[in-house]
Amino acid sequence: MSDIGQFFAKLSPGGKETFSLLQKDGPLTKNDLLVRAKTNLSTLNRIMQPLESERFVVETGVGESSGGRKPVLYDLNKKKFYVLGIDISRPYTQLIITNPKLDIVDKRFFNMDESHTPEKTTRLIGCIVEEFIAKLNIERQAILGAGLGTVGPLDRSQGIMINPVNFAASGWVGVPIKSILEQELKLPVVIDNGANTAVLAEHYLGAGKTYKNIAYFNCSIGIRTGAISAGNIVRTINDAEDAFGHMVIDFVDGELCSCGNYGCIERYSSIVAIVQKFTVALKKGRISKVTKPIEQIDYLDICTAAETGDELAKEIINNAATIFGAGLANYINLLNPSLVILSGPLIKESELFYQICITTALKRIYSKTNNRIIFSRGGHFDENAISLGAAAMVIERYLSKRQF
Ligand SMILES: [Zn+2]
Repeated sequence: MSDIGQFFAKLSPGGKETFSLLQKDGPLTKNDLLVRAKTNLSTLNRIMQPLESERFVVETGVGESSGGRKPVLYDLNKKKFYVLGIDISRPYTQLIITNPKLDIVDKRFFNMDESHTPEKTTRLIGCIVEEFIAKLNIERQAILGAGLGTVGPLDRSQGIMINPVNFAASGWVGVPIKSILEQELKLPVVIDNGANTAVLAEHYLGAGKTYKNIAYFNCSIGIRTGAISAGNIVRTINDAEDAFGHMVIDFVDGELCSCGNYGCIERYSSIVAIVQKFTVALKKGRISKVTKPIEQIDYLDICTAAETGDELAKEIINNAATIFGAGLANYINLLNPSLVILSGPLIKESELFYQICITTALKRIYSKTNNRIIFSRGGHFDENAISLGAAAMVIERYLSKRQF
């Protein structure tokens, strides 16, 4: 374990709580901390002593006076250490490096194609981390660790990606991603599925900061879902994040899904399904403003065409979003979230998809009088949510006994 890791391991529960309060709400005065931590000044001073002497916490200025001397503001030392957040998704891989406040200090991104096997992807990640270290002019030991949000199903305890579907490259089966990355980066790595890390980021620091029940959907090549219920992550079998996508919405006439069932949401509402339905319609002679060769058409073309009034694109997006919205209503009925975040490339590119989803969901939910649900397009962190939540997970592992 690194020196920083050892410091956290030895830190008192009060010290961890103070660190956490400053991470989320700092800068704060000692008075602010006393109120939040419900303690007295001598205890707080004792708690803060190691944090201040090791410069994890520093004075950052003075706050407003309520009469008399202006109080000193305390916050985390933004240069004390760094954390890596990695998001391996099917269309792209993203890396961020953050400070202890989880501010993004630097960020890189690459698209994933047929050449991006696990070996190539992890090698590229290693190169980017070298670049971060050189650019920030820091030692590797200044990085506390790396969090990875990736595509399930996972064996989290062993750090293995079991058999995620639809990666463009081959080799993404039974990948011991945690140990490969630990070797490549020479740092400790924690992993979870990307939808969980995203909902964690929104819960800690983003759109869901004040909510205990949050549902997060990432609409991309597949449909990835993460949920927080009563403040805790809802775990599914094998930490898969695609259960919602395989909710059966049409058992009678449903189309065959990759999972072997009929009528799953993913068969109608994922990027893959939308592109397939659009190109099949073109092959059958339907007219569209999209003039590219059929095999080159991607979801961006269809989303753009729908926004500019193309009838076929509108129809396909409309159908996809209506089915998604009906599934969303079922999900809301079961989990009763206060906040629903719809995110991912499809939501980002298609206002139409987003609007039809939420209109349909609101029309179909069981309790029509339930108007307390807040919908958010993209959440607070949008495309950074998965990697930021992965970074948050690294710090949280040291601060909390809670298992993620
Ligand atoms: Zn299915």
